[in-house]
Amino acid sequence: MMKNQEKFDVAVIGGGPAGMMAAGRAAELGARVVLLEKNESLGKKLLITGKGRCNLTQAEFDLKKMVGQFGKNGKFLFSSLAAFGPEEVIKFFEDRKLPTKTERGGRVFPVSNKSHDALRVMEKYLGEKKVKILFGSEIVGFESGGKKIKSVKLKHEKGKPGKKVVTADKFILCTGGRSYPTTGSTGDGYQWAKDLGHTIIKTAPALVPIKTKETWVKEMQGLSLKNVEISLIQDGKKKNSRFGEMLFTHFGLSGPIVLDISKKAGELAEKGEVAVSIDLKPALSAEQLDARLQRDFGSNAKKDFVNYLPELLPQKMIATTIGLSGIDPRKKINTVTGAERKKLALLLKDLRLTFDGTAGYAQAVVTSGGVSLKEVNSKTMQSRLISNLFFAGEILDVDGPTGGYNLQICWSTGYAAGTYAASI
Ligand SMILES: Cc1cc2nc3c(=O)[nH]c(=O)nc-3n(C[C@H](O)[C@H](O)[C@H](O)COP(=O)(O)OP(=O)(O)OC[C@H]3O[C@@H](n4cnc5c(N)ncnc54)[C@H](O)[C@@H]3O)c2cc1C
Repeated sequence: MMKNQEKFDVAVIGGGPAGMMAAGRAAELGARVVLLEKNESLGKKLLITGKGRCNLTQAEFDLKKMVGQFGKNGKFLFSSLAAFGPEEVIKFFEDRKLPTKTERGGRVFPVSNKSHDALRVMEKYLGEKKVKILFGSEIVGFESGGKKIKSVKLKHEKGKPGKKVVTADKFILCTGGRSYPTTGSTGDGYQWAKDLGHTIIKTAPALVPIKTKETWVKEMQGLSLKNVEISLIQDGKKKNSRFGEMLFTHFGLSGPIVLDISKKAGELAEKGEVAVSIDLKPALSAEQLDARLQRDFGSNAKKDFVNYLPELLPQKMIATTIGLSGIDPRKKINTVTGAERKKLALLLKDLRLTFDGTAGYAQAVVTSGGVSLKEVNSKTMQSRLISNLFFAGEILDVDGPTGGYNLQICWSTGYAAGTYAASI
């Protein structure tokens, strides 16, 4: 052993929500824990969650339903959610004097609406449990022998003070994904896991705004639409759809339902062209909409087409809709032809755009893909390949929709990894 080298029971790499929970939990069970974070502070990404309000978890207390929200890999979370699910997360924060509230769609936030307050709870937890935190500690790799890790190597400038390696009995890898790399999540852990023999399922930006080929979206930039349906169309078939709120941006689309469908859009795009269809009037069938337009046209017969449209559409959509319909805006409603009316109805039910990729990791809320779940014990988060390695958080190949699900993954898997790293 090197001179002056302190040996820890557990070394946690990455001070995001998963790493903080894992470190605190392991220390709570009596382990001597070191938390290694390359930034000069913890939870940089946690601070920007929920637009700075931190959607801590999702108020879904039915385990089966909760698991179902994570798609095909959700079953991996059964055990960890059963042990430390949304109910326990809410209790964890409330017991530490952070009252929570549940908003529309089951989204749980601190009553204060401040992610800083959630981070403070985690920092206090780590302090009370005497976790040693080494900031500015960028890990560059592992030293391993056989099926065990001996130590982690730190980036170290020659002649400067500081540790070169950290030695521990167990290691918990919580370096997150690749999204929002400015927060420190640069995907470093994937390569180390790969070097240690783990399979990395191809990563991709998920919960991410999408770009469209059509540039007219720019005209509606900033417009948010509620109660609309978006669908992905490939080879003339509807492949997926979501109902709710969306937003136009200068390069395409964003907002909750767009983020939620973005992963599927990216997957489909690998096979061929994908169209995005927006149904602005999902409560009406095509026939019902046409009947409504006919009625409206009857009662607005003398109006100019452009002056009727505010009854149908938000102001910001009018110029674009006129352009796309090809209908003369100054035309009187009673001179709009049947074919023109049908064109208008089609724009309202099936406003078509062409998917042109996602906005990438820089704007993705999470990264899909990651460490293959087949090689990780779902109860303990222990690697099946390296006996003293554990994983937690976004680095794992499981992700959820918006609404607090992704932080819940971090709390549950962090808690499991901390528990078992301290006791196995
Ligand atoms: C804008 C935005 C809003 C979001 N809002 C929500 C929300 O409201 N609710 C929700 O459930 N989810 C939300 N998420 C997702 C959620 O933030 C992530 O799923 C979560 O932060 C992942 O936690 P993690 O601990 O696995 O990794 P991270 O939070 O990414 O933390 C990883 C840590 O590891 C450190 N690290 C990386 N490499 C090294 C290295 N080489 N050496 C040392 N340290 C290293 C990083 O600096 C970082 O601190 C949001 C994400 C974004 C980007």
